Amino acid sequence: MATTALITGGTSGIGRAVANKLAELGVHVVVAGRDVKRGEKTIAEIRRAGGQADFISSDLRDASSAREVARRAVDLGNGKIDILINNAGIYPFGLTHEASEDLFDKVYSLNVKVPYFLVAELAPLMAKRGKGAIVNLSTMVADYGASGMSLYGSSKAAINLLTKVWAAEYGSRGVRVNAVSPGPTRTEGTGSMGEGLERLAAEAPAGRPATADEIAEAIVFLATDRSSFVQGAKLAVDGGRTAI
Ligand code: NAP
Repeated sequence: MATTALITGGTSGIGRAVANKLAELGVHVVVAGRDVKRGEKTIAEIRRAGGQADFISSDLRDASSAREVARRAVDLGNGKIDILINNAGIYPFGLTHEASEDLFDKVYSLNVKVPYFLVAELAPLMAKRGKGAIVNLSTMVADYGASGMSLYGSSKAAINLLTKVWAAEYGSRGVRVNAVSPGPTRTEGTGSMGEGLERLAAEAPAGRPATADEIAEAIVFLATDRSSFVQGAKLAVDGGRTAI
C-alpha cells in the first residue's frame, strides 16, 4: 500500500515544494488549503508528472476543522496517514501593543491549535501501526527576541516545545516527530515583504533568502526513513542565522 502524507498548506510555497518532492518519491500526497483553485492546480500538476495527489479544501481554524481534515485524509489514505507535515501557518509582523485580540487568536489557532489537534487525531493511529513521521514547521525567530515577532515567534516557540513533547509521547511507538526551522524564504506568502525579506536574510551568513525547495529538502529528509534515528530534533535551515 502506498505511503500517504498529509501536508497542510500544501498548495503554496514550502508546502507545495514538499508535496512535489514527496510525490516524486512515490508518496501519495494529500494537500490541504482554503483556496480551491490553487488546490486543484497543485494536484493537477502532480498528477500530470505521474504522481498521486488529492486536495482537501478546508479553513483550518480550530480543533474540529483539524480533526475533520485528519479524518478525510485518513479516508483518502485507505485508513492511514504515514506522514504529517504541519506546514500551514501565518506570519503577521507588528509590535505587541498594535496586535488585536482577533489577530492573536488567528495566529495561535492556525499555528498552534491546528497542529495540536491534527497530532491528537493522527499520532495515536500512527503509534497503533508502529510507524509514522511528523514534521512541524517552526521559524528562526522562535529562537531569539526579534522586535515585531511577538505573536509569530511565540506561536512557533510553542511548536518547538510540542515537537519534543510529542517525540516523548509517541516516539517509543515508532512515531518520529521533528521540526524544521527556516530562515527567510521566497514564497507566495513572503512576496508582500519586498525588501524586508532581503534585509532579514542579510543578517545571516548565507546573506540571501532561501528557495522553497531548499527548505523542502530538509523536511523530506525528516519525513522519510533517511532520518530513521532522528527524533525530537529541530533542524535549523536558516543560512546560519541562529548560529551567530
Ligand atoms: P505561504 O506561501 O503563505 O502558504 C501558506 C499555505 O497555508 C497556503 O497553502 C495556504 O493556502 C495555507 N493556509 C493558510 N491559512 C490557512 C487556513 N486557515 N486553513 C488552511 N490552509 C491555510 O507559506 P510559506 O511561506 O510557504 O510558509 C509555510 C510555513 O513555513 C509556515 O508555517 C511558516 O510560518 C513557515 N516559515 C516560512 C518562512 C518564510 O520565510 N516563508 C520562514 C520561516 C518559517 P490557502 O491560502 O489556500 O488557505
